[in-house]
Amino acid sequence: MTTCREALNLILDSVAPLPARSTPLFDALGLVLAETQTSPETVPPFTNSAMDGYAVRAADCVAAGPGSPVSLDVLSDLPAGSVSTDEVRPGTAIRIMTGAPLPAGADSVVAVEATTSEGSRVRIAAPVKKGANVRLAGEDLREGEELLPKGFALTPASLGILASVGLAEVRVHPRPRVAILTTGDELVEAGDKPGPGQIRDSNIHTMYAQALAFGAVPVPFSRVPDTREAVTAALAKARDHADVIVTNGGISVGDYDYIKAVLVELGAREVFWKVKQKPGGPLGYWLLGGKPVFGIPGNTVAAMVCMEEYVRPALRKMMGHGKLLRPDVTAVFEGDFRKSAPDGKVHLIRVRARRKDGRLVVAPSGPQGSGILSSMLRSNALALVPDDALALRTGDEVTVHLIEEPEDR
Ligand code: AMP
Ligand code: MG
Repeated sequence: MTTCREALNLILDSVAPLPARSTPLFDALGLVLAETQTSPETVPPFTNSAMDGYAVRAADCVAAGPGSPVSLDVLSDLPAGSVSTDEVRPGTAIRIMTGAPLPAGADSVVAVEATTSEGSRVRIAAPVKKGANVRLAGEDLREGEELLPKGFALTPASLGILASVGLAEVRVHPRPRVAILTTGDELVEAGDKPGPGQIRDSNIHTMYAQALAFGAVPVPFSRVPDTREAVTAALAKARDHADVIVTNGGISVGDYDYIKAVLVELGAREVFWKVKQKPGGPLGYWLLGGKPVFGIPGNTVAAMVCMEEYVRPALRKMMGHGKLLRPDVTAVFEGDFRKSAPDGKVHLIRVRARRKDGRLVVAPSGPQGSGILSSMLRSNALALVPDDALALRTGDEVTVHLIEEPEDR
């Protein structure tokens, strides 16, 4: 049987960044640049005022002081977005707004707060330093300068930088479209009342939300019935509309588990089925027409853990990220965990990690059954109980994945 590490490597080896696409800035937050961006322009494009005030010649105001104010003739008003046709000559000033281009002749701006208006004149009662309150052309970015390297994941500030130099679209790796198929005759919609033996489809919501949080575009195929025909139709449609397929439920050895059989019929190549882990042991992975297909078991925790441990890194690679995996750190266990029997599997247990006396301490976040979603709710890390260990006791060291921290490897 495949180990967790082997499974992850097989998955990552089979996927590649999606071909780059020109994308409008509004859609690009978090996406990864497919090429280095250099600035086609200079920012600011022209020298302009950093304050609302008066554009002056500093030489006119060197002698200004509380006892010796200088009075200047105000030639005109200059709002942002306009260019002055006047020139600031000795003894004159132009009223200027923040962002307006500095008029010819002026070299400084006096903030309005430091002046007194007197009809068509302005009184300045403090000396003015040459260049005060002036933003120079190119002081932020120079034409030809490297702005952002290939591989950079776009942030709000970087999107603003791109906009400021006129790069309204960028070449990025797109968000993968992820078809999510929940399967099972027992499932009803969250808003419906379950009949006898039925339960609500909660996995479509956890998995949809995870895919969204991972930066992908989830495409829900909810509550596919447990029939060969329904599974075939849903998988065929998913293949035609998505970059990645995630099926949920129906992957084990139950009498109504059709996912594997239908994938084979559709010509999918099995990469692995079953991983030495708990939860999520029956996890399978196929390539269907080159597209990754994750067959994830239906238990609520198994679904989330497999999304986190396997689907997320694959999606990140497809999105062009360099760092694919969450921090993997050693922590001190606090509590008592026992496997019910030696099973040769890595158990991924839900824990709450916290700092205590300079060390990372993790304690189980609740009962560890693979259908107990509340333990997932309260956890911020998964602790990996090794395949050959039977128990963890307080003070034992354990490897944990910090699932709320950004990828660092
Ligand atoms: P399966 O993998 O289809 O055998 O399902 C395993 C367990 O997970 C069963 O108890 C199912 O009822 C439950 N389950 C399957 N799919 C879902 C779902 N979408 N939402 C909540 N529970 C589910
Ligand atoms: Mg089922």
